[in-house]
Amino acid sequence: MSPVTIHKKVVILGSGPAGLTAAIYAARADLEPLVIDGPQPGGQLTITTDVENYPGFSAGIMGPILMDEFREQAIRFGTEIINTWIDKVDLSQRPFTLYGKESQDSADFSTIIKADTLIISTGASAKWLGIPGEAPIPEGLGGNGVSACATCDGFFFRDKPIVVVGGGDTAMEEALFLTKFASKVTLIHRRHEFRASKIMQDRVFASDKIDILWNTEVKEIHGTPETGVESITISNSESGETSNFPTQGVFIAIGHQPNTELFKGMLDMDDVGYLITEGKTMATNVPGVFACGDAQDSYYRQAITAAGTGCMAAIDAERFLAENEHQAGSNAASAE
Ligand code: NDP
Repeated sequence: MSPVTIHKKVVILGSGPAGLTAAIYAARADLEPLVIDGPQPGGQLTITTDVENYPGFSAGIMGPILMDEFREQAIRFGTEIINTWIDKVDLSQRPFTLYGKESQDSADFSTIIKADTLIISTGASAKWLGIPGEAPIPEGLGGNGVSACATCDGFFFRDKPIVVVGGGDTAMEEALFLTKFASKVTLIHRRHEFRASKIMQDRVFASDKIDILWNTEVKEIHGTPETGVESITISNSESGETSNFPTQGVFIAIGHQPNTELFKGMLDMDDVGYLITEGKTMATNVPGVFACGDAQDSYYRQAITAAGTGCMAAIDAERFLAENEHQAGSNAASAE
């Protein structure tokens, strides 16, 4: 079957706080934006529980509910949202072209998207340690006792001892959340101090369900497909001493990697893969392509800052279109 072709003035790749805020602003500027959901529609907040620091919600709000609100607000002003797997882009000429498949495994492209401007809000994904036993089933125990998402998997560890690896806010949050289920949470950190915010550290120190192993690295995860995780090998980073530590769950919370692989060689990015934007704007090195949220922010990485940069990217795109109006097409869809 021939692919469907969609031509839009503003295409937004990713639907977390950055992408949906960009959509709200672009939609209110009458640009009828198209948002393309990524593999995790709504982004990282959809796998979190209480969001306590998003302004406007004095009693806090559940992450998935907050993202539903973002989505509804974007749709209300005329945003179209589609779910397609983009695995090829052409930024060499405007309109830019994005090639969409029904799923990652599909052989053919089902949707071709032409974009006068592109806003990249692909976010970031959890990082892994890269140790034996950590890989997803069937190679390792990932999904069978090893996880990077306490809110997704915590329920499976009721009354079991588990470990959380990391020393940032994510690790604190995961450890605290897991105390609701686990019999004991051991927080394992490679240094002798956390980098997490003081308020989160204080909550961890105050919990009688959380033990802390300082200066400790996890070297290997042991278990079988039948038993799940049984123990880990840990090593003291000062003495070099290695030992076996029994546990039934391992939560990795060591930060995130920007989802920018698709744009390698096309857009300027730093060594880690964060997209580089120009000065105070959200413009990348390719005119008409803008980046916002965790895909370009290695420093603040908050929902509110992601939303702020999404707003900026939409305003940048709107101004770019106004300045280059003679080149812009119109919003349309057709089958080729
Ligand atoms: P961070 O980069 O802040 O922390 C990552 C942690 O993992 C660090 O303690 C780091 O150790 C450790 N680490 C990294 N790589 C390895 C490795 N290979 N082996 C062992 N340990 C490793 O990431 P977070 O995801 O925690 O936080 C990201 C941002 O999101 C921060 O700005 C944070 O404030 C924010 N955030 C805010 C929340 C909130 O406000 N409620 C909740 C969650 C996150 P080391 O310290 O030695 O470098």
